[in-house]
Amino acid sequence: MNQERLIIIGGDAAGMSAASRVRKLKPDMELLVFERSGFVSYAACGMPYLISNKVKSAGDLVIYDARFFKEKRGIDVFLHHEVRKILPQEKRVLIHNEDTGEEKEYSYDRLLIATGARPLIPPIKGLNLKGVFTLRLLEEGKAIKEYILNKSPKKGIILGGGYIGMEMAEAFTEMGIAVTVVEKMPCILGTMDDEVTQIIEDELKRNNVTLIKSKAIVEFAGNDNYVSKAILDDGESLDASIVLIGAGIRPNSEIAGSAGIELEKGAIKVNKKMETNISGIYAAGDCAEAYHLILRRNTYIPLGTTANKQGRVAAENIAGKDVVFPGIVGTSVFKVFALEVGRTGITARDAQNEGIDFITKVIDHISRAHYYPGYSQIRIKLVANKKTGILLGAQMVGKEGISQRINVFATAITAKMNVHEIGNLDLGYAPPFSPVFDPILISAEELQKDIIN
Ligand code: FAD
Repeated sequence: MNQERLIIIGGDAAGMSAASRVRKLKPDMELLVFERSGFVSYAACGMPYLISNKVKSAGDLVIYDARFFKEKRGIDVFLHHEVRKILPQEKRVLIHNEDTGEEKEYSYDRLLIATGARPLIPPIKGLNLKGVFTLRLLEEGKAIKEYILNKSPKKGIILGGGYIGMEMAEAFTEMGIAVTVVEKMPCILGTMDDEVTQIIEDELKRNNVTLIKSKAIVEFAGNDNYVSKAILDDGESLDASIVLIGAGIRPNSEIAGSAGIELEKGAIKVNKKMETNISGIYAAGDCAEAYHLILRRNTYIPLGTTANKQGRVAAENIAGKDVVFPGIVGTSVFKVFALEVGRTGITARDAQNEGIDFITKVIDHISRAHYYPGYSQIRIKLVANKKTGILLGAQMVGKEGISQRINVFATAITAKMNVHEIGNLDLGYAPPFSPVFDPILISAEELQKDIIN
């Protein structure tokens, strides 16, 4: 009997978690992973800390290398191999060996597309100047670190005020670079509401990061091929010896699209089993959609947590099980200077766009008992359904205890709890960790009062 073959395109979070899971469930299946970069299984999320030197070497971000996968798991990983074409009729893929230029076709029985996403590049002049970077692949993280160590840039510009822009504003500052963040929208962090982003803006200011909003960069200018200036749409010119483009990402779905695989706004359409519209072809991670439990439809919220889970679900189904990806509520956390920031569910802006009758509450409370040294302020914004009180979203910012508290709200949203039930949760308490009534309970109770009135 011929050995069944799974081909995986893309060897990071979704691709390698799938490969390892299939190997466990199907020891006899032949597993081939094609990865166009020089690394597999790398922690992209750790790159801001590689750049700020908290993580010393890029190797520390690689969980397992290609050799480990071959020797310990029997998974054939081909680095610098790009899949250029999917031929679903023939069940073959066309591979381009980036080192030798050679092209070759490989047949598959099952195919998993885990091609992730790439930075969105705005149409700006001067992007090819040295010192202008994007950050997605480990090679890019390494290149930024080397540039900083070799060139000691003094002024940096970050195009885009998303969470990666925030993490990189901190990283550049820690490396002695004076940072300006330029955001073309009137607010940073488009996935959060103003009451929370205001506190983050204050933190940027406290750390000498200049924030320019509602203005776009139209050009980068240089000296001797190195970036030296950014020109804004109002003609203002800013000095810059290093630039990070952090304008968002786009799914790598072109090879899927041209093979007849259905896309939705560029992301690969999948069902809950991570199957595409073509039998035997699956997709997972940042190249694909994810089912949103509140919106009750597929959305595109690309995150490492989702990529790993979707990869596992695809793997289980490839291995013959019948498993569904239950869905996401859009939970994410990040750190910017002394602040932890978290969000889950939908924002007030989202609720309005969805036509939901909603109510919000913003509270400020303390992170520990008032008599225990070191407490700090936490701000919470809740969004709930006005009629039922069911929690739809939470956003939170403060110096401590945010990431774990936001997970309580994420759990409550997943369980469709209302704010009355959340306000009565039996949460743990001791003075070093929280006040007797945790900010979670206080915020839910306060919102409940507004619903009753
Ligand atoms: P990717 O990681 O993009 O991997 C896809 C792989 O496919 C790539 O290695 C690519 O080279 C390869 N590939 C693409 N096309 C082809 C082809 N045609 N042939 C062969 N190979 C191909 N998420 C969080 O949840 N928390 C965080 O704190 C967080 N922080 C982040 C910080 C940074 C700086 C960045 C960049 C991302 C962060 N993320 C975070 C997002 C997270 O890294 C991604 O969601 C995750 O990496 C997605 O995994 P993936 O496997 O779907 O895609």
